[in-house]
Amino acid sequence: MTDRAVQPVERQLPTEEARDLFALVRELVQREIAPRAAEEEDAGHFPREVFTLLSESGLLGLPYDSEYGGGDQPYEVYLQVLEELAAARLTVGLGVSVHSLACHALAGYGTKEQRTDHLPAMLGGGLLGAYCLSEPSSGSDAASLRTKAVRDGGDWVITGTKAWITHGGLADFYTVLARTGGEGARGITAFLVPGDAEGLSAAAPERKMGMKGSPTAQLHFDGVRVPDARRIGDEGQGFAIALSALDSGRLGIAACAIGVAQAALDEALSYATERKQFGRPIADFQGLRFMLADMATQIEAGRALYLAAARLRDAGRPFSRQAAMAKLFCTDAAMRVTTDAVQVLGGYGYTADFPVERLMREAKVLQIVEGTNQIQRMVIARHLAGPESR
Ligand SMILES: Cc1cc2nc3c(=O)[nH]c(=O)nc-3n(C[C@H](O)[C@H](O)[C@H](O)COP(=O)(O)OP(=O)(O)OC[C@H]3O[C@@H](n4cnc5c(N)ncnc54)[C@H](O)[C@@H]3O)c2cc1C
Repeated sequence: MTDRAVQPVERQLPTEEARDLFALVRELVQREIAPRAAEEEDAGHFPREVFTLLSESGLLGLPYDSEYGGGDQPYEVYLQVLEELAAARLTVGLGVSVHSLACHALAGYGTKEQRTDHLPAMLGGGLLGAYCLSEPSSGSDAASLRTKAVRDGGDWVITGTKAWITHGGLADFYTVLARTGGEGARGITAFLVPGDAEGLSAAAPERKMGMKGSPTAQLHFDGVRVPDARRIGDEGQGFAIALSALDSGRLGIAACAIGVAQAALDEALSYATERKQFGRPIADFQGLRFMLADMATQIEAGRALYLAAARLRDAGRPFSRQAAMAKLFCTDAAMRVTTDAVQVLGGYGYTADFPVERLMREAKVLQIVEGTNQIQRMVIARHLAGPESR
């Protein structure tokens, strides 16, 4: 082994501005996020003030247009920032990714007036967003959602229950997919609902295996009234908007997964060079060296895959298949790498005294959110072989 087992990740950043941005991110991570991560995750504390700080620092709107308060950064830069945040604390990295997902509909499909009215506060005005697609009886089969929005004069009245909402109950705005027409994908419309809307309430947060600091809750819409000016896109366009947001969001999940995996590898490497058995550091044993080599290779391959998809997106080319592949590969890699990191630490890896058990619990959720990895395989196969015949 070299003297210094853990090297900072070598980033490929396209501009001087992006390199400066990274210096700021690393400084914020070391000062405000990493030191509190283990304790606050244990206590189930959501670091709302960190999101305010990220917003004030221009880090909550990175991939969006500066005309509306965004950071004008290419996706390849934004995703590497997410990776860095998630390596320090997944609650923060994934929270930024979900916020970005919640902004996607309005930024991409809102009218000029809607964007001018709402986006600056969403992208850099301290607000926190949430994305409401899933329901208790529709997860993978999202197009079968039942939450209804009914026209009443110039308003829409929304009634139903959304499930698993990250930042549910704490968000300042919700991008909500609701049924305005008949069954199936074409009957769905998107709305921007303020967090303090009358008739909107959240259940107690779910008691999760990991990411305990990130609130996940059911949201009840009991006749929530929003003006038509808060409808995003055309009536019936909502599902297409939701899927387009998810293509980009999945890349965020892939980047977060690589952050979690990198954090686990770093822990495993430092432990393996310190810990001695049979009179030698355990990192001398080929059984572990090969395991560490495989972990590092999975991480590099995953990073290359999500960056390749991001560069397609930045070039304005189709990237849906590659985004599904990146989500699938990176989150499976994170599960494997974090599990192996626990193995490298032996009995200590199984205790809360070291971060690898937390990283392993966190990795699991990434194989589930924004389309399970079974659903990613379906998306990839459809691109390859066309739709399934019935
Ligand atoms: C911590 C957390 C945060 C979340 N945050 C949000 C959020 O902010 N907003 C939001 O809208 N949703 C959110 N979700 C919901 C998440 O997107 C869903 O959990 C996910 O889409 C799966 O839906 P489900 O849980 O209903 O599982 P189901 O769809 O019931 O799936 C159960 C199992 O069946 C498999 N399966 C289903 N259909 C098929 C098929 N056709 N072929 C093969 N296998 C299949 C699935 O892969 C899975 O293994 C979150 C979930 C969690 C756990």
